[in-house]
Amino acid sequence: MSTHVDVLGMAREQLAVAAQYLELDEGLHQVLSRPMKQLIVNFPVVLDNGEVMVFEGYRVQHNSSRGPTKGGIRYHPDVDVNETTALAMWMTWKCAVANIPYGGAKGSVKVDTKQFSRREIEKLTRRYVTEINMILGERSDIPAPDIGTNAQVMAWIMDTFSMQKGYTVPGVVTGKPVDLGGSLGRVEATGRGVIVAAEEAAKSLGINFEGARVVVQGFGNVGSVAAKIAAENGAKVVGISDALGGIYNPNGLPVEELINRYSGREGGIREYKDAEAVSNDQLLELDCDILIPAAIAAQITKDNAKKIKAKLIVEGANGPCTPDADHILSDKGILVVPDILANSGGVIVSYFEWVQDLQNFFWEEDQVNDRLTKIMRHSYAHVDYTMKQHKTDMRTAALIIGVKRVADATIRRGIFP
Ligand code: NAD
Repeated sequence: MSTHVDVLGMAREQLAVAAQYLELDEGLHQVLSRPMKQLIVNFPVVLDNGEVMVFEGYRVQHNSSRGPTKGGIRYHPDVDVNETTALAMWMTWKCAVANIPYGGAKGSVKVDTKQFSRREIEKLTRRYVTEINMILGERSDIPAPDIGTNAQVMAWIMDTFSMQKGYTVPGVVTGKPVDLGGSLGRVEATGRGVIVAAEEAAKSLGINFEGARVVVQGFGNVGSVAAKIAAENGAKVVGISDALGGIYNPNGLPVEELINRYSGREGGIREYKDAEAVSNDQLLELDCDILIPAAIAAQITKDNAKKIKAKLIVEGANGPCTPDADHILSDKGILVVPDILANSGGVIVSYFEWVQDLQNFFWEEDQVNDRLTKIMRHSYAHVDYTMKQHKTDMRTAALIIGVKRVADATIRRGIFP
């Protein structure tokens, strides 16, 4: 779906709305609507069968006014430079909403990882990092995992960058394995933050989180952890999907069992039989209290927004609701907790990981989780306050905060030279 949707157009439309509220100077609006750097690389990899295949990859840095740029690396067949730019822009606002000292970036490689061996993915990763290493660095641009990448890929990135420097640079990437300078709590951070946001929003709507019916689209890092913590905190997870389709049981699904036995299997979670099989489209329209899209962009559009039955949508994924859908959802009285607030737990704990790496001093997991929860609740309260103050929706409120912080930093620093 994301290939047919102009996500950069979506991101720019959102920025334009915030710019109007902030009465942003036109020149400054132009600066913020464009990425400061886009690197496109084409690089060869020798496959296991000896054939050479050329891959296309990108690294886009959107804005560094508030600090080094930060953002995940995505391996997916549908990526392109515009989508990567939109994701980099959202990272800038996300870091600013959480008030952590980063700008936004994003990287991606056009690849379907399922078609390649582990050795091939390792070679692809090392060559991609070599092609973009001149703009990476612990003080300049720090990648992290996203769709199709994980802690192992981050370890290869750290190793490749370090080999080329001649010494180990753990702070060049976050989301690493804990024994290589990763942070306790990082793997769960995004999903954990999504649930903190969901609980705060549920409270504001008078929904009791305990017993609330939750549907989660996507069962990767974000979706599976969000589903697990939702269930641990007393909610009833009634629907889950992965790329192959979804399952629904109004009496609740056994999330732990699905994670331990079904995720990562060839047939995906659809192999679990004590539930009704549903398509990804049907899943989004299920009767539930809280819907957590945690897969890819542009899943809730003008075509299906009318049919959404949830009272609350918490965006685990980046860009799952289009601007058209936002209008319809708002008219229906559905509260949407936007991605740049809801899924910021990942970058918040990435920030903790980076701080720990720079200091070579590591924290306990409780400390990480407590600090994450505190920042998430604080950001939520700030966005909620701004939403009421400006009588607007929550996405616009979050953007008003994020864009204003970046605009203020840009003005204070001045335009060089
Ligand atoms: P992942 O690769 O671990 O999981 C992605 C999941 O989505 C998988 O279950 C996959 O089967 C499913 N999926 C893929 N295409 C789908 C489709 N067309 N329909 C339904 N499901 C589909 O990725 P992730 O890290 O969990 O990221 C998920 C989303 O969350 C992305 O939008 C990502 O940008 C965003 N995000 C991730 C992090 C993080 O820390 N990993 C942080 C912030 C935001």
